[in-house]
Amino acid sequence: MLLQAVLLASLCLWTIHQTKARPSNTHEFNKGLEWLTRYGYLPQPDPRAARLQSKEELASAIKTMQRFAGLPTTGELDQKTLDMMNQPRCSLPDIIGTSELMRRRRRKKRYALSDSLWKKTDLTWHVHSFPRSSQLSEAHVRNLLFYAFRAWSNSSALTFREVSSEQADILVDFTHSYHQDSYPFDGPGGTLAHAFFPGEHPISGDTHFDYEETWIYDPGNEMSGRGTDLFAVAVHEFGHALGLAHSSAKESIMIPYYQGPVGLPHLYQLPLDDVMGIEQLYGKRQSGSNPDQGNPGLPAPTAHPFPDLPPYRPTHGPHLPSPDRCKVHFDAIANIRGEVFFFKQKHFWRMQPTQHLVSLDPAQTLRFWNGLPQDFQAIDAVYERANDSQIVFFIGSYYWVFTDTQVNPGYPRPTSDLGLPPGTVIGAVFVWPHNGKTYLIEKDRYWRYDDQLGHVELGYPKPVTLWKGVPTDLDDVTRWNDGNTYFFKDTQYWRFTGGSVESDAGYPRSTAHDWMHCQVPEASSPPAPRHGEGGMCICAGAARKVAPLLTWIIIFIWAIC
Ligand code: ZN
Ligand code: ZN
Repeated sequence: MLLQAVLLASLCLWTIHQTKARPSNTHEFNKGLEWLTRYGYLPQPDPRAARLQSKEELASAIKTMQRFAGLPTTGELDQKTLDMMNQPRCSLPDIIGTSELMRRRRRKKRYALSDSLWKKTDLTWHVHSFPRSSQLSEAHVRNLLFYAFRAWSNSSALTFREVSSEQADILVDFTHSYHQDSYPFDGPGGTLAHAFFPGEHPISGDTHFDYEETWIYDPGNEMSGRGTDLFAVAVHEFGHALGLAHSSAKESIMIPYYQGPVGLPHLYQLPLDDVMGIEQLYGKRQSGSNPDQGNPGLPAPTAHPFPDLPPYRPTHGPHLPSPDRCKVHFDAIANIRGEVFFFKQKHFWRMQPTQHLVSLDPAQTLRFWNGLPQDFQAIDAVYERANDSQIVFFIGSYYWVFTDTQVNPGYPRPTSDLGLPPGTVIGAVFVWPHNGKTYLIEKDRYWRYDDQLGHVELGYPKPVTLWKGVPTDLDDVTRWNDGNTYFFKDTQYWRFTGGSVESDAGYPRSTAHDWMHCQVPEASSPPAPRHGEGGMCICAGAARKVAPLLTWIIIFIWAIC
């Protein structure tokens, strides 16, 4: 009976619910009720009292769940809530114990402690059996577990020592189906792991992983679907094995929902919420003390001070070497929603309306713009369409139209669809503030394009010598929020004020110096005219344009970070 109580109180199951959320119906409603009960938001039904949940009680339970999960607190089993209930998660209840505890939990969004902890700080662990996954050798499994323990010892007075004895405090098992604790595993998918809170019982602290799961080491690939990240799950489970319950803090490793990989194990640091929790249980780590203990009786995992990690093979290919923003010429430059984007090969930089670069390091184009071909080498030209704010990319003799960062269906299309000669490769494109018309440039000729008609105008192409003082075969042309137009070629740029067809005096100047915040000699005298000044009328226009697209911009910034 005691064992059963311990099991019930301390069991943690990671489960994947495969079913997709559907609009609310009786089935979903019953499933929602069952979910809320299983995870502690509703009391267990009492058949003797034929107890039914009142509407208010149910709404209150849903609100508590929504608050815990960081959802809008509607009190309804809405789609977002049902989706969250279908997330892979740990099935240790989120709410444990009395209603008083529930009230306290509702007030504070933070780590939560179980009612038990180890009465010592030097703990031992042992791996009794290993997973089936062929991707991870036994040494790699031990090493990943080593780092998962180290995450906790780095932030507390705890130390962990791997031992050869089965009498270890925390016994780790990769086991399948029925395995003598009444909580059988269910093969690939479904239940992933469970752990037991600290205590005096032999099973206390023990952590069980499903042997048949595809355990992987894939720190850079979020929710790839290829398997479950052993390190991330181990850190969470060991948190339970040390006495932590679930946290409602979004950044916590103890959040009940499986979040995918958490990064490189040897660099991993617990989020603050978990640090506060483990420190409250076991105290802070003494500065200078070494939490990493040897493995007496075991062959050392490696000769290095820290164990090796499994080889990491990112599925998106190796990290791309970044181009140097101070030395390159750009493939394409465009003003999109008031920000200027500088594209180079498979990267881009963004300059905000304040003239600050969002980051000195470039972002990866394919990670941000969803729908370009994976194997493109360079973008030839980009612009934001004046009539509908869609964004158009040109690569070779094709073009793609994007709504925000997502390509529209039906692309790419050949540039000949725009009325251009077959095979035309647009190298530069811009909307001239002078007349609001779009200009498409190929080497030394250009077409004027009618956005409304979706076709180039009659009487084109014409020679680009219309704009005096600039070379042909431009890299790109864009407007800035000052109402002026900037022509770029190699490492230099030219300014055309307003609707002028003559380059301003004092140009060309250095793109790296004036746009990329690089410490390079200025290209020419006289003193630099600032490209962000003047143009009140156009600036107001730009602001009007940005405001309705605020949501888009927020998504944008969030995605980059
Ligand atoms: Zn859990
Ligand atoms: Zn078990």
